[in-house]
Amino acid sequence: MNSKYDLHTHSTASDGTLSPKELIYKGAEAGIKIIALTDHDTLSGLNAASMAANNIDLKLIPGVEISVSWSGITIHIVGLGINPNDDLLKNELRKIQKLRFRRAKLIGEKLETAGFPHIYESALNFSNGKLVSRTHFARAIIKAGHASTISNVFRKFLVKGKPGYVKDTWASLPEAIHWVKSSGGQAVIAHPAKYRISRAKLRSLLRDFKNFGGEGLEVISGCYDQNEEKNLAKLANEFNLLGSIGSDYHGPDKPWIKLGKLPEFSPICRPIWHDWASRHQI
Ligand code: AMP
Ligand code: MN
Ligand code: MN
Ligand code: MN
Repeated sequence: MNSKYDLHTHSTASDGTLSPKELIYKGAEAGIKIIALTDHDTLSGLNAASMAANNIDLKLIPGVEISVSWSGITIHIVGLGINPNDDLLKNELRKIQKLRFRRAKLIGEKLETAGFPHIYESALNFSNGKLVSRTHFARAIIKAGHASTISNVFRKFLVKGKPGYVKDTWASLPEAIHWVKSSGGQAVIAHPAKYRISRAKLRSLLRDFKNFGGEGLEVISGCYDQNEEKNLAKLANEFNLLGSIGSDYHGPDKPWIKLGKLPEFSPICRPIWHDWASRHQI
């Protein structure tokens, strides 16, 4: 199904494989009318994306996906409609980018010990001097011939208990929400079905998120079972959150996720874009 909205996508500014410009053109081709570029912990792709979108019939919502540590797990907060020039947001994201480099160095050392020579340099090459993520290590490990798919690399080498795992501490939940909101954006919990937490813990997350001023919940995502959608939409309603929708597209090398191919938005909850006519002139 083609979707008018795709509010969660990645470019080469973080761990996607299409440049911001390529992503925007591909989005238009896929029939998307409103797209958010939400790279991990960086705003560096937004300028190029905005210039590309200006040339065509596609509205860009500037976004970001912030890495957050909450109650012992990593969760992702998508910021929609943020101001790419906001000083607080830019400075805080810069700190996370530095943390990511330090973490990459540690991951590299652990993987070298486990028998992957020069993997750190190779991962940095894949990140092209921009934000570095575990996805870049996954691509480096595939290139070195030690695995055939990104999911395999994660399972075998990059998750808890595996040789390349490094414990990380990201922003706190109230911090991330504050940065998003103070730059004019709306905070959304990304892909809630991906955290593998109990319903009780998810409810506790939603409670905290709402109390700290969070506004939205991704009820439709490209990266999980669509059966979840109805449950999530009900939860959004219960916690008075708005529903968001995004593929979490990273490029053609994760072929199971397609840009803009998402089911119809559920009428059970109110969409995050219900007031975007005044907010974003769409
Ligand atoms: P990082 O933020 O550096 O820890 O990397 C997280 C990114 O790795 C996510 O945004 C996904 O793009 C990717 N990722 C995480 N787990 C998996 C997995 N099991 N299979 C494929 N990609 C994954
Ligand atoms: Mn990613
Ligand atoms: Mn994510
Ligand atoms: Mn994402």
